Amino acid sequence: MRLRTRAVHAGRADLRARGVHAPPLDLSTTYPLEDLDEEVATLDRWSEGARRAGNPIYTRVFNETVARFEDAIADLEGTSDAVAFASGMAAFAAVLLAVRNDQTDHIVAIRPLYGTTDHVLAARLFGLDVTWTTPNGVAKAIRPGTAAVVLETPQNPTLELVDIAAVVAQADPVPILVDNTFATPVLQNPARQGATFVLHSATKFIGGHGDVAGGVVATTSEWAAALRRVRFATGGLLHPFAAYLLHRGLPTLPLRVEAAQETAQELVRRLRQHPAIERVLYPSHDLWARCILGTQMRGPGALLAIDLGDEARAKRLLSGLRLALHAVSLGSFDTLVEHPASMTHRIVDNEARARHGISSGLVRISVGLEHADDLWADLTRALDEEKKAKPAARKRAMC
Ligand SMILES: *Cc1c(COP(=O)(O)O)cnc(C)c1O
Repeated sequence: MRLRTRAVHAGRADLRARGVHAPPLDLSTTYPLEDLDEEVATLDRWSEGARRAGNPIYTRVFNETVARFEDAIADLEGTSDAVAFASGMAAFAAVLLAVRNDQTDHIVAIRPLYGTTDHVLAARLFGLDVTWTTPNGVAKAIRPGTAAVVLETPQNPTLELVDIAAVVAQADPVPILVDNTFATPVLQNPARQGATFVLHSATKFIGGHGDVAGGVVATTSEWAAALRRVRFATGGLLHPFAAYLLHRGLPTLPLRVEAAQETAQELVRRLRQHPAIERVLYPSHDLWARCILGTQMRGPGALLAIDLGDEARAKRLLSGLRLALHAVSLGSFDTLVEHPASMTHRIVDNEARARHGISSGLVRISVGLEHADDLWADLTRALDEEKKAKPAARKRAMC
């Protein structure tokens, strides 16, 4: 079945037989135990990382509402399993703990990455060494102790694309983690290109309404079992109500992403003509990007970035917007605009930020579901005001 249909029905196959339309929300933290010998056998099956084993026993072992959301994400990503966590960062931490063993102590990572992901690796929070490289340098960066390759595409916040299959070809058999938060399963399924871990900050498009934090990793059954063991031990649980809300949003995910993407494309067309903007970053600018869009990705997405040349101009634009909201995060129903150098990527090493084009004039826009004309009116008015404000600001700076 096609994606739109799967988004509507994923994780709901049993509802008709249960005689309900909305999925039940199970908030239990503990479960009645009956025959103790049987329950011991059940607990053993859970501890081996089983997907379904019977009595949930305790909330950190299993929750039906969370499992339903996981099934739905695995369906949309085309993987055999998925494991959900309290946030995108909890999901990333779990992958690092799962791939780490006595023989592995090293991660290869392609910059730029989401700021906190970059920080976790750069600060060696899990004691793993990191080698930063480019998409073409992966083969050279891998060494005997390499546990995983970490990448994001489209990249945050520069919207450059990485050819996943080309990285997989260099890394094999080292597992690859692709952060698919920006593309969503609607526009890209990295497991098809050979990625082992497909990670989402579900806080973004999957939630889509700015009111749930969550993370999820779609992967193989074997790795999912390892991730469940980590989750059991470390407790980075997705709350069942959060899982319920995330699952509730999936039927509209394709519609939301497609509508926001259409508006983003329209804004990019107009922004590229606008004299006040130095660069518009969006995955469509060259032949190579269009090639990736034709194979790996099904569309350029709803995020774009504009470069105003310097920080003062970027700040004036941000404070002049009235419809678009100046806030971090992305993938909400409303348009969110932020300054990566000050906020999401502030934690990244200065030199790395500069080298990867995260300049001080860069403003990231996560396009929402408003009408393109209204967003355009807001942007152009703020740009006009920003231009007028310029001489005054200069004068102040001189005295
Ligand atoms: C937000 C984000 C994360 C982290 O997710 P949280 O849910 O905030 O923990 C990771 N990767 C990307 C691309 C993100 O945008």
